[in-house]
Amino acid sequence: LSELLEHEQDLPSATPDGHTMPLMVNTGLAVDATALLKSRIGGVGLYRTEVPFMITERFPGEKEQTKLYRDQLEGFAPLPVVMRTLDIGGDKDLPYFPIEEANPFLGWRGMRVTLDHPEVLMVQLRAMLKASIDLDNLYVLFPMITNVEEVDEALRLLDRAILELGEEGITVVRPQVGVMIEVPATIYQMDALAKRVDFFSVGSNDLTQYLLAVDRNNPRVSSLYDALHPALLGALLELATDATRLNKPISLCGELAGDPAGALLLMAMGFSSLSMNAPSLPKVRAAIRRVPFSDAEQLLKEVMALDTPAQVHTHLEGRMDEWQ
Ligand code: PEP
Ligand code: MG
Repeated sequence: LSELLEHEQDLPSATPDGHTMPLMVNTGLAVDATALLKSRIGGVGLYRTEVPFMITERFPGEKEQTKLYRDQLEGFAPLPVVMRTLDIGGDKDLPYFPIEEANPFLGWRGMRVTLDHPEVLMVQLRAMLKASIDLDNLYVLFPMITNVEEVDEALRLLDRAILELGEEGITVVRPQVGVMIEVPATIYQMDALAKRVDFFSVGSNDLTQYLLAVDRNNPRVSSLYDALHPALLGALLELATDATRLNKPISLCGELAGDPAGALLLMAMGFSSLSMNAPSLPKVRAAIRRVPFSDAEQLLKEVMALDTPAQVHTHLEGRMDEWQ
């Protein structure tokens, strides 16, 4: 089977009835932009910038960051690279920037930290912009957005970075900007967000944690943590429908995208692309290549009528076996 999957990797990620589903990769540390991988993906759907920050002894400076980002952007060019601004806090602590809190996942994380420290965000934005010169494949993504004001403030800082660089004689192109949909409040603010940004990226790992009130890292409650919970599926369908209505691309970059059954459901919902860890690409591509879009739509309809996570899993297992 693995040989079969390997052979399929050079074929398009499209259903037998011709629906194309772009597959992207999540990256962090390594720039594994081999020609082989590049020919098989639509780009980088999520570059987690906090990952390189975790192995340094202090905040990397503008020059260091520019080099890091240039390596990513150049490595994957001309494919798009979605760079997420620093998403620390929660479970991701920097040794040189400790955050002590009783409830880290409900506390100071992501955009909440970087908007309180605009000097950190500005260095990062300036470095990203400088790194993208003459490549123009940079997309900027803001994590952990809860309120529209946070987006306005982040955009103001982006514009300021562009202006500053211009004054220094460095002309940069304004990148497309997106927000992570991972705090449940944003599910209900899609119209307001769409007025401000170019694309959406759903962080299903956090959205699951916050919608179900289940710590994503606590083994005691891990049986409750389920991205295929009917409530999640309802939220995801609503998000895809809203993004389609608002004419904005919507991607999903959490673990759910790397699950073949999850990927089929997301495709049927109307997600425009899926971003996953590279090892998940073969099985997701295989599922998409085997299942007609109309069958995936039927599957979605069946699943949306179920009441419990267990029913969803049992149903999906049965149907996936039929498509083996
Ligand atoms: C997510 O929350 O689904 C996500 C992709 O971001 P992270 O896992 O880095 O929080
Ligand atoms: Mg997240």
